[in-house]
Amino acid sequence: TSSAPWSEVRERRVAAMGGPVAPLFYDEPLEIVRGEGAWLTDASGRRYLDAYNNVAVVGHADPTVAQRVSRQLRTVNTHSRYLHPEVVELAERLAATMPDGLDTVLFTTSGTEANEVAWRLATELNGGTGALVVEHSYHGSTKWMADLSSNEWPPGHRPSAVGTFRAPIRPADLSAAATGEQVQAAARMLAGAGHPPALLLADSGFTSEGVHDAPASYFEGLLAGAHAAGALYLADEVQVGYGRTGPGLWRFRQSGVVPDLVTLGKPMGAGYPMGAVVTRRELVDHFAGRYEYFSTFAATPAAAAAGNAVLDVLEDRGLPERAVITGGHLVERLRALAADSDLLGEVRGTGLVVGVDVVDRPTARRLLQALVLRGVLAGLTGRDGAVLKVRPPLVWDETHVDVFVDCLERSLTSLAP
Ligand code: PMP
Repeated sequence: TSSAPWSEVRERRVAAMGGPVAPLFYDEPLEIVRGEGAWLTDASGRRYLDAYNNVAVVGHADPTVAQRVSRQLRTVNTHSRYLHPEVVELAERLAATMPDGLDTVLFTTSGTEANEVAWRLATELNGGTGALVVEHSYHGSTKWMADLSSNEWPPGHRPSAVGTFRAPIRPADLSAAATGEQVQAAARMLAGAGHPPALLLADSGFTSEGVHDAPASYFEGLLAGAHAAGALYLADEVQVGYGRTGPGLWRFRQSGVVPDLVTLGKPMGAGYPMGAVVTRRELVDHFAGRYEYFSTFAATPAAAAAGNAVLDVLEDRGLPERAVITGGHLVERLRALAADSDLLGEVRGTGLVVGVDVVDRPTARRLLQALVLRGVLAGLTGRDGAVLKVRPPLVWDETHVDVFVDCLERSLTSLAP
């Protein structure tokens, strides 16, 4: 029950929920009982600045979202096989945020499911059986999406139907021609192994890869390379979408490139499980020649109420535009701090998704813990887990940035030998 002591809850979780298979954040896992805006409160009443949670894109416990969802729950909530205007409205609104041609929306309940559905649409259209992904990618938790998540591969695991190419890390990787050639080289290997690629998937913010800010040329290379290999290009906006990189909703749009498919998730329902694939009608029509698509909880009326409320709050409060300004201040302050620190290196990011290189993984872990002790919640990412990841709710303003960077500075000092 809610009055059980924290240590007992922890033991019961290990016993009932598999322990190490589902790890929690931080050395001492937190029991978060309340949230408001950019702040979270634990069971002891301690408050934390949230520098990490993108599900709460419009802030924790946003009253507009809560009201709209609860009103719908008190009216009716069904599976997704009945007509409901709120659901259709959400599809129309999402399509309107996309480039011309990406006009059809299939709802899901998670980012993983969105990528799986996209995979089915692509393979149905072009008959490919291979997939192209970035080194150290993450695309989901089902068997196939785990195979497409090169960052999660255990030692020795290399699925024969998956080809990898480099994230936009080195200057030499960034031109459209070099990127396209890398993609095509990976595609040739796949085809040689009997798996011509159906789909290239790339997180538009390259977050699991360590947070990389790709120029338009890199996106152009992804699209051209995929198409030359007979594959479709999927922009995975599950993590960086919904205004985080501002001033629009989707990171890929900064490049001018139009992907064949876009997948959405995480922030979409402010915690109400939602995801979506947005694509051209042609792909869905082709699929419909042989299959139906149905997922019980995909855009129920209450989920759609959450989805529409999130879009309303983002729009009414100008949060994507604000992410550009707040993120600019964050990067500027972090670069100044990193310039004076032996423990920090490069600072990368767009809007409010920012990665800071830490000298090594053990130091990064100690830094993360030092931040928690000072009341700030952040995360780690990248191949070696040595990149500090800052990905806060978009309600952050410059005062939150200052609290965060001041805390980071004190945490760095605490680590000094
Ligand atoms: N794609 C990306 C880029 C992600 O970051 C994630 C989740 N971390 C997923 C897909 C999978 O989303 P979900 O956990 O909702 O299935």
